[in-house]
Amino acid sequence: MKEKLAIFGGKPVRTERIYYGRQWVEEEDINEVSQVLRSPLITCGPRVTRLEQRLCEYTGAKYAVAVSSGTAALHCACIAAGIGEGDEVITTPLTFAASANCALYCGGRPVFADVDPDTYNISPKSIENNITERTKAVVAVDYTGQAVMLDEIRQICREHKLCLIEDAAHSIGTAYKGRKVGSIADMTTFSFHPVKTVTGGEGGAVLTNDKALYEKLLLARGHGIVHDEELMEEAPHEGDWYYEQISLGFNYRMTDFQAALIDSQMNRLDEFVRRRRAIVARYNEVFSEMPELIIQKEIPESDTCRHLYILRLNLDRLSCSRREFYDAMSAENIQCQVHYVPVYWFPYYKHLGFQRGLCPEAEKIYSGIMSIPLYPKMSDNDVEDVIRAVKKLVRFYSLL
Ligand SMILES: *Cc1c(COP(=O)(O)O)cnc(C)c1O
Repeated sequence: MKEKLAIFGGKPVRTERIYYGRQWVEEEDINEVSQVLRSPLITCGPRVTRLEQRLCEYTGAKYAVAVSSGTAALHCACIAAGIGEGDEVITTPLTFAASANCALYCGGRPVFADVDPDTYNISPKSIENNITERTKAVVAVDYTGQAVMLDEIRQICREHKLCLIEDAAHSIGTAYKGRKVGSIADMTTFSFHPVKTVTGGEGGAVLTNDKALYEKLLLARGHGIVHDEELMEEAPHEGDWYYEQISLGFNYRMTDFQAALIDSQMNRLDEFVRRRRAIVARYNEVFSEMPELIIQKEIPESDTCRHLYILRLNLDRLSCSRREFYDAMSAENIQCQVHYVPVYWFPYYKHLGFQRGLCPEAEKIYSGIMSIPLYPKMSDNDVEDVIRAVKKLVRFYSLL
C-alpha cells in the first residue's frame, strides 16, 4: 500500500478543481432574464408560451407544457397517463429517483426492468418480462443522453396498451432515426436543472403529439382549473371572474424569467451539442485503447447528445475498487459523481419491499462506474487534464 501515497501525496494533475458538470450562462442569457424582471408579468406570461413553441419547433412535437422541474414533468405525465392506485409503471433502476417516484406520487408501483449490459439503457426484453395485468405505463430513460430502443419499446407498448413516457432529462438534442427526442414517445419529459444540457436554474417540460394528453397535462400543472367556458361544467357561469376547478392538479408553473433563460440557452443548444460530442469523441479515442476501461456502446439509431460521460472500470484488470479510483480522481482535483445508485437500493424502496439483486446487470454496471467531467464550457486543456488523470490512475492500478 506504500505506492498509494504516490497518488494521494504526489502533485495532483490539476490545481484547480473541476466538476463533472456545470452550466454555461452568458451575458445574453442574463439580459433576457432581466428584461422579464423589468416587465409586468414575471410568471406564466409570454415567455413561457414562447418557450413552449420553441420546444415544439425544435423537437417537432405538437404540444409542450413547461413546468417547474423535470420531476414535476414526470408527475404530470403520470397523471395524464391515468396512473392510479395499484397500477404498475416499468422503469430502469439506473436513473435519478424521480423516474420511479413519479409512479408512487400517483399511488402506483414502480417495477424495475434490467438494463442492456452494453448500452446501459432499459432492455426491451426485460420490459416485456415485467409486464403484468396491472402494468399501465413505461418510463424509459435516455440514460446519459442516448435514446432508448424506441422502435422496440413503442411496439411493446402498442401491443400491451401501455403509455410510453420517455424521461429525456439527459437527451435534449438527441435524435432517434433522424427524429428529435420529444416527438416520438406518447409523452417526453425534459429537465432544465443546471447540470442538464440547457438550464433555467430549475424547470422542466412535457411534450406530446396527443391533444387529449396535452389537456390533461395543463390541468395537472394548474390546479385542475379551467378558464375556458367550453370546458366548464356549470353553465351559465357566475360571471367574468369565474373559473372552475374540474380536477385535482398542482401548482407546477414555470416562471417567465426561467423560461427566458431556457429560451436564451436554446439559441446555443446546437453549439452545446457539438462541443459535448467533440469531448466524448476525444475521451472515446483515448479510453477505447485501454483494456482497463469499458466504453459505453452506442446504438446506430441514436444520434446522441451526451449529457454524461461514464468512465467504466474493468475491475478484472485493476487492483482497485471503484471507490478507490473515485477517491484518487478526487485527489487529482477531478470531482466525479456516480450516476446512479440503483434506485431500489435506497432505504425508502427497501422499506417498500425491494431487494438487492433484482436487476443484476444494472448492479454490475453500477459497481464500476463514475461520471467524469463533461460540459460544453470545458476547455481542451480541461479535457486533457481529465485524460491525464485517468491514464495516471489506470497505469498505477493496472494488473497487466
Ligand atoms: C435530472 C433528472 C430528473 C429530474 O429533473 P429535475 O429537473 O431535477 O426535477 C429526472 N430524471 C432524470 C433521468 C434526471 O437526470
